[in-house]
Amino acid sequence: MNTKQDIVIIGGGVIGVCAAYEMTKRGAQVTLIEQGEVASGSSYGNGGLIVPSHSVPLAAPGVPLQGLKWMLNPESPFYIKPHFDLGFIEWMIRFAFASRHGPMMRSIPILRDLLLASRVLFDHLASEVGFEFGYEQKGTLMVYLTPRALEGGVEEAHLVGRFGIETKILNSAELHKLEPALLPEVIGGIQYLQDAHLDPARFVTGLAEKAQELGVRIQTKTEVLGFETSNFRITRIHTTRGDFPAEQVILAAGSWSPAVMRDLKIKLPVQAAKGYSITLERPQVSPRIPLMFGEARVVVTPLGDRLRLAGTLELAGMDLSINQRRVAAIQENSAKYLPGLERAKVLEIWRGLRPCTPDGLPVIGRVKAFDNLIIATGHAMLGISLGPITGELVSQVAMGEKPEIELSPLKLERF
Ligand SMILES: Cc1cc2nc3c(=O)[nH]c(=O)nc-3n(C[C@H](O)[C@H](O)[C@H](O)COP(=O)(O)OP(=O)(O)OC[C@H]3O[C@@H](n4cnc5c(N)ncnc54)[C@H](O)[C@@H]3O)c2cc1C
Repeated sequence: MNTKQDIVIIGGGVIGVCAAYEMTKRGAQVTLIEQGEVASGSSYGNGGLIVPSHSVPLAAPGVPLQGLKWMLNPESPFYIKPHFDLGFIEWMIRFAFASRHGPMMRSIPILRDLLLASRVLFDHLASEVGFEFGYEQKGTLMVYLTPRALEGGVEEAHLVGRFGIETKILNSAELHKLEPALLPEVIGGIQYLQDAHLDPARFVTGLAEKAQELGVRIQTKTEVLGFETSNFRITRIHTTRGDFPAEQVILAAGSWSPAVMRDLKIKLPVQAAKGYSITLERPQVSPRIPLMFGEARVVVTPLGDRLRLAGTLELAGMDLSINQRRVAAIQENSAKYLPGLERAKVLEIWRGLRPCTPDGLPVIGRVKAFDNLIIATGHAMLGISLGPITGELVSQVAMGEKPEIELSPLKLERF
């Protein structure tokens, strides 16, 4: 094993921090560069769900059409903003192709393997790191108001069930017994037993502190501006706070990754998909188990004395503005499933940009163009779930070990 290398990680979200922690444990000298603070990108206020249940990629039959249908609805949970940027148009074409039945079926076992491996690593981390991050293994419940949507949900449960994901279909009585907080209008649902949840901000900032204790140098408020290269290697990284030499560079800049790569002339098909969360003071009647609302496409995560609603997927470029109508729609639509949400005190409204590839699989591994560059991005709606396994795979690649999961389906050159 190759130890004591100077490794520079760009990006202090869940992916960069998990990679830093794993690599420092393996004896590498790691510097993590972050333009803001740790977890100031999309890893802060997200749903915090760890979801092997989501082994079906975003690119699936019917999804592009649904996005187009909802384009004119200002309150829809999935929105594609038409804009004439060449990268976006190329991405949409690839997305449409990847959404066919065949490619989706090929992607399911790849995502499943990553998600299940990561779930196991969370169990280890919870006992290893020595700080509490709200990790609970209670599964999740996907619940429905209408028979038609429930039917669709059951179909998807059977599909992932065929790939080994543990599901339990619940009728109304069984569901309400398991989660009495739900309103009587909820007619049934699916229990996903391998899912779990955590407080994402606590996990990422806590792990960053732990990594720092182990020797990782964390350089915040430092923006990467460009690179110096020679003989197919990156030799220096230019930042707003001086230059950093590097033996190896890990790119984990989430939705900003394509912009960071531009200086290296590497095209990375990643589009930002904005989502919102509303963190509420926990109402008196409140769920014990994290919920996913089938029709509203909102997830609900109990976080101690808070309750978080998260939802919406807006393909609108790097736009961080807050659309209040969509935020209000998340709360209003959720009130159809749970009591008291309209009146609950709002503690925080947040938005984040999910880094999405057109085929719904992340990009993890070395790239052909530079010998010492590793990319780890494109985790879309699964970045928290996939953080630990991505950290592990990236460290294995960086340290010259054989990755425990075959990385060829995740390489950048597939595009
Ligand atoms: C509403 C919502 C709900 C979600 N719910 C879940 C969920 O329940 N479960 C789940 O698994 N996932 C969920 N996700 C997805 C998850 O949040 C993301 O996949 C994950 O946070 C991506 O992590 P990342 O480290 O790749 O990117 P980020 O967390 O965005 O980190 C990238 C970092 O790079 C930094 N950076 C960018 N450019 C530069 C530069 N030039 N120089 C230095 N630093 C730079 C940024 O400041 C940022 O901190 C959700 C996302 C949203 C928006």
